Amino acid sequence: MKKSAFNLDAFKAWLTDCGAVLIAPTSQWEILRVQTCDGVQVVYRNAKDVQTWPEPLVVAREAFERGNRMSLSPDMRARKKLRHLVEEIAARDGLWCWFCEAGFLGPDSGEVTIEHLVAKSHGGPDHLSNLVIACKGCNGLVGHMSVSEKVAIRDRKRGYAAVAA
Ligand SMILES: [Zn+2]
Repeated sequence: MKKSAFNLDAFKAWLTDCGAVLIAPTSQWEILRVQTCDGVQVVYRNAKDVQTWPEPLVVAREAFERGNRMSLSPDMRARKKLRHLVEEIAARDGLWCWFCEAGFLGPDSGEVTIEHLVAKSHGGPDHLSNLVIACKGCNGLVGHMSVSEKVAIRDRKRGYAAVAA
């Protein structure tokens, strides 16, 4: 059986069905520009019409050609990642705000945010050891405070009294 030629328009429609967002190409050398759960992906061609495909779109194209579906929505990926992270932290700390101990209805609650104890802008890693769950209010309050300031805020919110050694 002869392999049918790749149909770019059908692939674009498939990408949209899978939740990816098509973006207008920015030059004649781009034959496809699309935002997926892996970020913005671009397929280029050169003057000899040789194409360069980024790895995530190679994978997507293989799924498309096999007639499979993928979940490519940028939002979907972000939500899934956030939920997974919240669950990991909650398994350690419980599902409440690390500062004020406000509880949440569930890991998908819109009130749940992830707080970097050492702020990313100060070189704080995305590692679990640097992350706590915070409610929106507390997250906004502590902003780019130092860790010791954050701990002091937590102690005050939880009503811990300072004890002299
Ligand atoms: Zn809070």
